[in-house]
Amino acid sequence: MKIIAANWKMNMNFNEINNFFNFFDKNRDFKNDRKVFIAPPFVYIQYVKDKVNKLNLSFEIGAQNCFYEDKGAFTGEISVNMLNDLNIDFVIIGHSERRNIFNEDDYLLNKKVKKVLSSNMKCIFCIGEKLEEREEGKTFDILKKQLENGLKSVNNVENLIIAYEPVWAIGTGKNATNQQIEEAHTFIKDFLNKNVANNLPILYGGSVKPENITEILSCNNVDGVLVGGASLVAEKFYKIING
Ligand code: PEP
Repeated sequence: MKIIAANWKMNMNFNEINNFFNFFDKNRDFKNDRKVFIAPPFVYIQYVKDKVNKLNLSFEIGAQNCFYEDKGAFTGEISVNMLNDLNIDFVIIGHSERRNIFNEDDYLLNKKVKKVLSSNMKCIFCIGEKLEEREEGKTFDILKKQLENGLKSVNNVENLIIAYEPVWAIGTGKNATNQQIEEAHTFIKDFLNKNVANNLPILYGGSVKPENITEILSCNNVDGVLVGGASLVAEKFYKIING
């Protein structure tokens, strides 16, 4: 089974969502070893869930972020309990945009990962090195640090999914080579097998598109992909799902 996950980021509106699902209403021929996830902005989660149910599409719906407290004076934040109330399937934690634009550090992300895993939802925990870190030969040190700190004392790991997203490949059109993907995924898999659990899924993210999906999915230890830009265009996302 390969997971094909869409991260819509701060994109889409009602009209664009309607067009997206009009396409999927007419194009519903999916390879049967694909699991499709969609993470809309918070305000559209319920609308997308209703669409998917109405059209009888077996897509899992999730959120792009959450806070670790249950409730209270945290203006602008959304709790895991609130997401659970919507009956959604997963939450993305630690996307590089959360780390780099909103300064979310490993300590905060660890609290969020634990909170999500204490619910019934899956947690897609994102890690990845920046360009200068790769150029300085620090890729594996960075991945190890993000895994050690972000996954410190986690329980209920059966719902944990890792996304390896080299920051230099996100939204840039540059995707990592097969060799770079396999090296990183093998490193992550070894770390997880030794320290967390065996056989947790590891997704690749970074400029995934219809043209490179087949090659990326054929890499060793790649259990799926996390897709940003190309997931906003129904035709492209459909080709990625079936890639
Ligand atoms: C992402 O947002 O996780 C991502 C990989 O973006 P893109 O596919 O646009 O590079």
